[in-house]
Amino acid sequence: MLLPHKHSAEGTTIFTIMSALAQQHNAINLSQGFPDFPIGTELASLLGEAAAQGYNQYAPMAGLPQLRQQIATDFQKRYGVTINPDTEITITPGATYAIYTAFTSILEAGDEVIVLEPAYDSYIPNIETNGARAITISLKAPAFSVDWDEVQKAISLRTKAIIINTPHNPTGAVWTKEDWDKLADLVRDTNIIILSDEVYEQLIYDGLQHYSVLQHPELRHRSFALYSFGKVFHNTGWKIGYCIAPPEFTTAFRRIHQFLCFSVNTPAQYALATYLSQPGLPVVSKMMQQKRDHFIDMLSATQFTIHQPASGSYFQTVSYEQISDMPDMEFAQWLTREHGVATIPISAFYRNKKDDKLIRFCFAKKEETIKLAMDRLSAITVTAK
Ligand code: PMP
Ligand code: GLN
Repeated sequence: MLLPHKHSAEGTTIFTIMSALAQQHNAINLSQGFPDFPIGTELASLLGEAAAQGYNQYAPMAGLPQLRQQIATDFQKRYGVTINPDTEITITPGATYAIYTAFTSILEAGDEVIVLEPAYDSYIPNIETNGARAITISLKAPAFSVDWDEVQKAISLRTKAIIINTPHNPTGAVWTKEDWDKLADLVRDTNIIILSDEVYEQLIYDGLQHYSVLQHPELRHRSFALYSFGKVFHNTGWKIGYCIAPPEFTTAFRRIHQFLCFSVNTPAQYALATYLSQPGLPVVSKMMQQKRDHFIDMLSATQFTIHQPASGSYFQTVSYEQISDMPDMEFAQWLTREHGVATIPISAFYRNKKDDKLIRFCFAKKEETIKLAMDRLSAITVTAK
């Protein structure tokens, strides 16, 4: 039987490939992005308590009201934006799903979506599965900044949306208010919709502040903003996220969502709502910045080099030029197999597999994990060329 290929991505996602390879070779897994340290004991207990108290049946379609209220309160406090929890917030099974659902709510056959590469690997398949076309633009190394002339040239009458990711996976780049203003200038007289992937909003360093699309007076009314609790509370396996969008966008989003998964894990929503209601939650960026600094510090004893420290996210992009001239995919597999450290080749974030000889390490790891990885990385010399 011939089944259709709904999108152009070949084979299996790089995160599955590299985590499986890491397991096969018993390597330290700095590839797929997830913390290797435990979640807060209190959050874990709250999940158990919710299940024990009997919160085990379907949650409301839009999400548990108290969780949506907590999110609205949190955004008011942290970003000074007023969000209506009933008409503007939908709880989702993770941000990947929220991005797919936002695309599905708006895309029609023949539409175009502008994607800035390198980009998280689900975006383009999501766009194509919906019958639309991704128009890709490369960010400019070393800062991975946007060439606004290129964006302007990419806009056509068929452009339905542009997807932005800040802080950025895999480069760690962070958008400023000025970036958003430039985007606002370009879309002002169009109906272009913004998808703003802000899953790493709370992982931002060196005193920088995340600027959310929800804070932008012109852009907010034309944007879906997408978030993931997994990145904030270190529980990526819970797969709980949310979408914040104006009422008419949220209605379109729920039109799809209600028939895609209907509702999201009830005890996890209870646990998160209770957890969020408590004062004095830990500031994740402080802890993660220490990990980034420790990682970069130890990396200097190796032949790997960085162009600049990640300003956000929990990824550091690294060059291996001094060690090898292998293609990055080959190098990542070699490193996992021969030296027991798994990484992600940056070419996996480009549709055309553009290879700049860069790899990505996840530094959301225990100190001893980073130390062990660095012991292995520092043993590698240029003889591997
Ligand atoms: N967007 C980006 C840029 C990501 O790195 C991730 C990481 N998983 C997601 C979205 C998806 O988050 P989730 O695990 O909640 O689906
Ligand atoms: N976002 C994580 C990463 O970039 C993992 C996502 C996934 O495994 N699909 O590594």
